[in-house]
Amino acid sequence: MRRRFPFRPLLLGAVGALVVAAMLVVYLQRRSADQQRQQTALIIQQVCERTVTVLASEVRVLFDGAVLDTLEGIGHPEIKAYDLPRMAAFFTDGMARYPYVDRFFLWSERMPARFERQVLFYRPYLEPGVRELSVEAPGGRPVGAFFRDTRPSDEIGRLAQLALASRRSFAVYERTLDGVPYQFVIHLLWDDAAREHLFGIIGYTVNLQRIRDSLFERLETEHLSKILSSVPPAPRLALTVWDERGQITYGSPVQADSPSASAQIQMLFFPTTALRTWLAAHPESPQWRVAVSAAGVPPATAGLGNYGLFGAVLSLIIVGLLFAVMVDRQAIHLAQMQADFVANVSHQLKTPLALLSGASETLGLGRVRSPEKIREYVDIVRLQTARLSILVEEVLHFSRIECAADLHDPQELDLGELARDAVKRMGVNGHAAIRFECPPSAPFVKGDRTALEQVIVNLVENALKYTPGSQEVVISVDANGRYGRLAVRDQGIGIPRNDLPRVFDKFYRGRNTGARGGFGLGLAIVRAIVRAHGGKVSVESEPGRGSEFRVLLPLASETSHGAAHTAG
Ligand code: ATP
Ligand code: MG
Repeated sequence: MRRRFPFRPLLLGAVGALVVAAMLVVYLQRRSADQQRQQTALIIQQVCERTVTVLASEVRVLFDGAVLDTLEGIGHPEIKAYDLPRMAAFFTDGMARYPYVDRFFLWSERMPARFERQVLFYRPYLEPGVRELSVEAPGGRPVGAFFRDTRPSDEIGRLAQLALASRRSFAVYERTLDGVPYQFVIHLLWDDAAREHLFGIIGYTVNLQRIRDSLFERLETEHLSKILSSVPPAPRLALTVWDERGQITYGSPVQADSPSASAQIQMLFFPTTALRTWLAAHPESPQWRVAVSAAGVPPATAGLGNYGLFGAVLSLIIVGLLFAVMVDRQAIHLAQMQADFVANVSHQLKTPLALLSGASETLGLGRVRSPEKIREYVDIVRLQTARLSILVEEVLHFSRIECAADLHDPQELDLGELARDAVKRMGVNGHAAIRFECPPSAPFVKGDRTALEQVIVNLVENALKYTPGSQEVVISVDANGRYGRLAVRDQGIGIPRNDLPRVFDKFYRGRNTGARGGFGLGLAIVRAIVRAHGGKVSVESEPGRGSEFRVLLPLASETSHGAAHTAG
């Protein structure tokens, strides 16, 4: 009789356990990777949304500029004196700054007889052969030229007649010349308040076909690339532009599964809000659309595909075993924290920015008249600006501390004195609720005064903020082995048990915060500074009864012997 292999059940059991373990590892791995992918996609989506908003308003600013800067920059005296070099200087500048301007033009009653009833166009360079009226720089070198061009000149004459009838200062028309659509922006210059006597016309044309063919390429290289690349290195953001017919005029089609966001742009080339009431006529505004999309972002989920059961199980085992050995969970955790950081900063910036842009827009429209209302909006702007600058300040401060650049000035410090100084600086010196428990000879620690004061300020600020009424906050200092110890104890609301392990994380705010403001950075800063000093910080807390934060910093005598203990 053949004997049964005695270890067979054991072996089967072990293989089974291995398979289950491998599957579990793969499952957990996939879930965490999926979560991270989803979160990344979400963040990139937000980045796209914000970028496209900024981009659309930047384009609007560009489209808005020329009339006021260039046309209004040329004063009546220059036109009356028929001062061509001065006008040429403005036109040259305008053409360099506003890439959509095709030509500036000019008519003045002082023009020589040979140009009678003709409009002169300007170009900021000289073309061989075309030198009707060159303009000279101070050194006598010709820099640009005014020239005649009958067809558009006649058209401007006709349009000016139309505008004259309504006696406005500005008029905008869209006309097609030789099959090419143009926008004509005309500024009429009157001599008298009653607008009986016109002494000049200046303006510019926009070649709408050229806009379609090449404007956005130029805009992207000269103006928009800054915006598109101002986000962290990956992913690359791409610009796509559709004209009013819904046809792509710039960029490539947006991939259906990549994060993207779009915004409308009015194709009007003058300050629409500022000039609307001054205008005699303006064309129907064609709406274009711009989109920002992120290339090369993995889709939010990646399915296992159509593997057969056998293939799937086999790959699970192999992949699982490989992962079980190699997975670097630390790296995943770090990536996750970075993703959290970006998401949180975005979130924190969004609210004040939305409030600011709403308030400034309302104020800008000039609809708010009553002083109380205006004050209310100004208050919003002031408050939100302050909030933003605190946030930016904290984030900068934080990143400086993280690379330990802030700890440049180590000194021997009396921990008790340091605590009193910090509280004094907070302006809560006479605060009845703060009590010190310091021995006469407080321990000396070695560190950066400003940074360590910041630690105390952040802890005391929290103790006061999260303690209702005027319950006592106690700051105690003593020596503990090789460390100087500073504790801040309050009898406040306490921290829920589930929040305790995360209160030192960047941007983490507990569920106990209620309506109290904050960014969740105070304790993260505390931990970064304390760690950089080779110390540790910990917390004990009970909801409803209070909290105690303890900081341990190596004693000066210890650090001078090189016995700093790096922990946190
Ligand atoms: P800020 O960035 O303005 O300091 P914050 O106070 O919310 O904002 P942290 O100081 O980092 O941020 O604190 C993180 C969280 O820890 C708080 O949101 C709160 O939930 C909890 N916390 C901190 N100190 C206390 C305290 N003394 N009592 C109760 N909860 C506290
Ligand atoms: Mg705080």
